[in-house]
Amino acid sequence: MDYKKYITVVPDWPEKGIRFKDITTLMDKGDVFKSAIDEIVEYAKEKEIDIVVGPEARGFIVGCPVAYALEVGFAPVRKDGKLPREVIKVDYGLEYGKDILTMHKDAIKPGQRVLITDDLLATGGTIEATIQLVEELGGVVAGCAFLIELSYLNGREKLKGYDVLTLMQYD
Ligand code: IMP
Repeated sequence: MDYKKYITVVPDWPEKGIRFKDITTLMDKGDVFKSAIDEIVEYAKEKEIDIVVGPEARGFIVGCPVAYALEVGFAPVRKDGKLPREVIKVDYGLEYGKDILTMHKDAIKPGQRVLITDDLLATGGTIEATIQLVEELGGVVAGCAFLIELSYLNGREKLKGYDVLTLMQYD
């Protein structure tokens, strides 16, 4: 499917010079959203995934329906101060700013095979930090799946050695 025609590109948001890719106009079309999720599920099926992990907030939108279809669990990656129990933390840089990501210490059991999901791969900072959290907990990153890849930001460089699926690429 040509998913790109369902993405709305918003110029100068959230800052001047950024062309924000708004996925809500894909998500609100049931058949298009289902098709995108189904593609990620197909990709993940042969990877024997034990759990799906996604960073807030759009990583939940992609990851939860995939986890449901695979009949596995979902573990959230959240900004500092949002998870209620004991967490591990990692500092990360993102396309516009710096932050801390956290996961519950018991979210992943050592050796579990993990699919990481997010809406968009830009510089790769968010996903690199997410991988760090998963691996610190002993998880094995079996794949990373995104709706969109901003190829010109070279996020894939940070994901060398990992299996990556993206449904749309912007050059
Ligand atoms: P990265 O860490 O530089 O790869 O940025 C990816 C993260 O920023 C993802 O969690 C995205 O949700 C968010 N992000 C960056 N640019 C966009 C955009 O144009 N549309 C939607 N999300 C974006």
